[in-house]
Amino acid sequence: MIDNYKHKGLRKRLVDSLRAKGIVSEAVLKAINSVPRHLFIDNAFESLAYRDKPFPIGCSQTISQPYTVAFQSELLDVVKGDKVLEIGTGSGYQACVLLELGAKVFTIERHKQLFNTARIFLPKIKYKPKLFHGDGYLGLPTFAPFDKILVTAGAPFIPEALKEQLKVGGILVIPVGNAENQVMTKLIKTGETEYSKKEYGDFSFVPLLDERSWG
Ligand code: SAH
Repeated sequence: MIDNYKHKGLRKRLVDSLRAKGIVSEAVLKAINSVPRHLFIDNAFESLAYRDKPFPIGCSQTISQPYTVAFQSELLDVVKGDKVLEIGTGSGYQACVLLELGAKVFTIERHKQLFNTARIFLPKIKYKPKLFHGDGYLGLPTFAPFDKILVTAGAPFIPEALKEQLKVGGILVIPVGNAENQVMTKLIKTGETEYSKKEYGDFSFVPLLDERSWG
């Protein structure tokens, strides 16, 4: 688990490129600068870890592109101490960025193998989000309500359970669309049953799968 000067240098360059692409939150940039992304990627491909590209993590899933992680984290407006629910743990990288932002992180992954890999790997690099194996469409009612909810897979619609599990004043960030393209959507819960919505352009995530496609 080495994080040497070369890695740190590459990470700094990645952060500079994210700034150039329009990420303005210094807290988010600092968090990206702190998480050793190369450790989330197969050793053989270490040199690709600090390019601004998504990358396969097995089980047909990907670790999101750094720009996307930064963009979603910025929209989420994390305040130290926020209770944040992430849907789609994947490699656990985004969860670590949220931890670096000072959030208390709960994260759900439907894929058993990815869940197990994250459960074993993350404590080794000293990150301890609360990890759950389950269906993100249902959220995490036992631990609700949350200050913020972040969905890191493309959803066909905004799941009602996630809206319900948000505190009033809370923020939900979710890419909504079809299998190819989703619109980054930010929902602010303005009252018990009231929401304001803003959209932030097209992205392309792996799909948020429903129970029928579990295998
Ligand atoms: N946040 C991740 C990348 C997410 S890729 C990272 O930082 O690496 C999307 C993830 O969502 C995949 O791991 C996929 O298995 C998971 N996923 C898809 N449908 C899901 C569902 N219904 N509930 C929970 N996780 C789901």
